[in-house]
Amino acid sequence: MQKRGFVYLIGAGPGDPGLFTLKGKKVLEKAEVVVYDRLIGQEILDYANREAEFIYVGKAAGNHALPQDQINEVLVNKALEGKIVARLKGGDPFVFGRGGEEALYIREHGIEFEIVPGITSAVAVPAYAGIPVTHREATSSFAVITGHEKPGKSVSSIQWDKISTGIGTLVFLMGVENLEFIVTNLIAAGRSQDTPVALIRRGTYPDQEVISGTLKDIVHKVYDANFQAPAIIIVGETVNLRAELKWRENKPLWGAKILVTRARAQASGLLERIRDEGGEAIEFPSIKIVPESDLSALHSAFAVIGKYAWIIFTSVNAVDIFFEELRKRDIDIRQLQGIKICAIGPATFARLAKRGLLVDLVPEEYRAEGILAELKTRIQPEEQILLPRAEGAREILPESLRKLGAIVDEVILYRALAASHINPPLLESIRKGQVDYITFTSSSTVTNFVKIIGREFIEDFNSRVKVACIGPITAETARQNGFTVDVMPEQYTIDALFNSIVVDHKS
Ligand code: SAH
Repeated sequence: MQKRGFVYLIGAGPGDPGLFTLKGKKVLEKAEVVVYDRLIGQEILDYANREAEFIYVGKAAGNHALPQDQINEVLVNKALEGKIVARLKGGDPFVFGRGGEEALYIREHGIEFEIVPGITSAVAVPAYAGIPVTHREATSSFAVITGHEKPGKSVSSIQWDKISTGIGTLVFLMGVENLEFIVTNLIAAGRSQDTPVALIRRGTYPDQEVISGTLKDIVHKVYDANFQAPAIIIVGETVNLRAELKWRENKPLWGAKILVTRARAQASGLLERIRDEGGEAIEFPSIKIVPESDLSALHSAFAVIGKYAWIIFTSVNAVDIFFEELRKRDIDIRQLQGIKICAIGPATFARLAKRGLLVDLVPEEYRAEGILAELKTRIQPEEQILLPRAEGAREILPESLRKLGAIVDEVILYRALAASHINPPLLESIRKGQVDYITFTSSSTVTNFVKIIGREFIEDFNSRVKVACIGPITAETARQNGFTVDVMPEQYTIDALFNSIVVDHKS
């Protein structure tokens, strides 16, 4: 029997990827076809299986969206092929999302579906602006209304006389272009001209903008500010609460646009912290970690692992690849017994600890010089040291250890390569320096960044953007490449770098 298809109509929430539901994530992970609208963020799409088929049905720049009947057909056809289909929509699928239409069509064709509600922008976007849709003293009702109704329509489906005075808080979606029409109708139907109004654009995103006024002056204000869709319009006394309840704008990194140049696998921690503190983190994966295809040098070292007095790990990547290979070759971790282990800094320490290894040494200064300072007195001549690390890493560590009389086996585990793809509009805006900070967390992030954006753009970029480097080696590489270094922490860690940016941004 052929496998039966299934359609999930999923609400993706208003924008902030953290507002996507757990259920949405769970069903998206098992979808074989993903049909998605405009404004569905990459982070949410990333939950889907990479092997899934992705079908974009939103508006492209200057183009129209796929007509609704064609979307309906895509959903049904894919389900009839026996596929699990995830239909992702902004906000909630049943709030001005045409979810009902799609569900009816799907049912007519005998296909099973499930609705996965999402957080609607009608409530969440005001919340992110510090505006509750209800409040005991101010209002006991709210309505969500389309603002898309054409001004010329002879019979309005909106009963302006009833909603204007009959409901406390009015939330209009899709209404920016019709703001004047909406305001005129409300006033004509008896709502006071002094009623507070706010427009919130790109709510819940890090570049959310809010403009507020009253029914009397909002049209002018919006016109003067050239305030554009997509935005929601909220009308009612609760808008005044924003003065006391706004919270996003108080976050320490609010308004800071920060470019994070790390390899993808490592970037997430820094990206998340920036976002948590209200900043806009832009991922620029200038390097990617590619394990060496030929790891025979490592395997040879495994064969004689007992001879080493020390293993020195200088990155989490080295830890990961080292232990994965150990496992792949069926070597028991107890073979490492008696070998002293050094981690260059706290991240590497933590990664080793996760594998159950409490290291013997983490230097005070998290770089090669720091390791040398501490090992100087601790290694004996002729002692064997294994140094698994990246191609192109600095020579100072093995060279100096050899000078101390040690025998060093350097084994290349991986390369840090320039990432191949970055989308053109983003590259363009970066070249123009349209960010506030750039973070460099290793010398290779600097050199790869320069390679990707082009040396000729550096001077201009540097004059507009603050450069934050994790430590002196990275800073030196940055200077050699034409950057002025503005931020560098005292401790060479991601945490300290993050804190230094917060301090700098607040000053
Ligand atoms: N189903 C969606 C609404 C779709 S209609 C929901 O439940 O949220 C699209 C309209 O929603 C836009 O024109 C705008 O008015 C509003 N909207 C959606 N996301 C928004 C956001 N992040 N910020 C401001 N308005 C938003």
